[in-house]
Amino acid sequence: MAIFKLSLFCFLSLVFVKCSSPSANNSPEENLKTNKSMEIKDYTPSYISLHKEGVLKKRGKELWDRMESCDLCPRNCGVNRLEGERGFCKANSDLEVASATPHYGEEPELVGRGGSGTIFFTNCALLCVFCINSEISQGGAGRKYSIEDLADMMIALQKRGCHNINFVTPTHYSPHIVLALDKAVEKGLKVPTVYNTCGWEKPDVLKYLDGIIDIYLTDFKYGCNEKAGKYSIGAYDYVDYAQKAHLEIQRQVGTAKKDQKTGLMQKGLMIRHLVMPNNVACSKEVMEWIAENLPKNTYINIMSQYTPVFKAPNYPDISRRITREEYREAIKSAEEAGLTNIQTQGYR
Ligand code: SF4
Repeated sequence: MAIFKLSLFCFLSLVFVKCSSPSANNSPEENLKTNKSMEIKDYTPSYISLHKEGVLKKRGKELWDRMESCDLCPRNCGVNRLEGERGFCKANSDLEVASATPHYGEEPELVGRGGSGTIFFTNCALLCVFCINSEISQGGAGRKYSIEDLADMMIALQKRGCHNINFVTPTHYSPHIVLALDKAVEKGLKVPTVYNTCGWEKPDVLKYLDGIIDIYLTDFKYGCNEKAGKYSIGAYDYVDYAQKAHLEIQRQVGTAKKDQKTGLMQKGLMIRHLVMPNNVACSKEVMEWIAENLPKNTYINIMSQYTPVFKAPNYPDISRRITREEYREAIKSAEEAGLTNIQTQGYR
């Protein structure tokens, strides 16, 4: 596959990797910017021991079997994906991937210098009318791959110097991911895994990922069900699931923890919240719930880049970008709720 051939860039990257190392004199923030070779040396992901114990294979198979009457996400379609049926997410049991590449636009603690090894899965169950990746999530962009291919993608990204493997919109392919990880460990995978999810997750499905996922990068999109149902078609239970999911995730991985030397994220929960115009995201409710139910130093990235794309121009309340005032209001509500690990972008 052409995209995984060793490019000149990749070759140069590997050469550079051998020539530099994180400086002990630099702060983690400086190391994030100046070193390509940083590795988290003192951290071994627990998926490696779970592979040796046969747990990855077992859990992957159990998740796979759930596709027979699919209930992997809150849509609970009940379709038989193993027979080729497709539910809300439009996925059957064939794995479809849109891209696998180092990504430099994620949070700095995931990107470092080598990038976050991002694997974008085709299809999505949440169906947001403002989705910025709608060609992939709802338009079917991507192509079929085998589970072996998925394992090879992870290894190729690790070889290119990526600091983690970042599964984007993974829920409907969670069986494939766990089975592919099982194979990838045999091939030498050792970097942390990132589950990059919309936050609308079933706790009983997340339990299969306990010890397998190192970092949960979740969107906490809405603090009110009515808006969720309107703008993420029919997801009127978004808040209930997101709250339970975050409690389960916190139980599994705890508060976000960085490697002291490199500044790279090792393990834990990283929450994103996209501020939306006209308070459609109910930001205050999100911040208050996090402050009341998770540690006050929970990592929360309050994002300002909402853009009215895809079907958003058809909905008056979300047909514009946010104002500075709206962004400041969201930050203020996080601060007033007592949250202490707030990341912000521009507009401050
Ligand atoms: S993963 Fe897809 S098929 Fe399964 S319940 Fe969710 S939307 Fe339906």
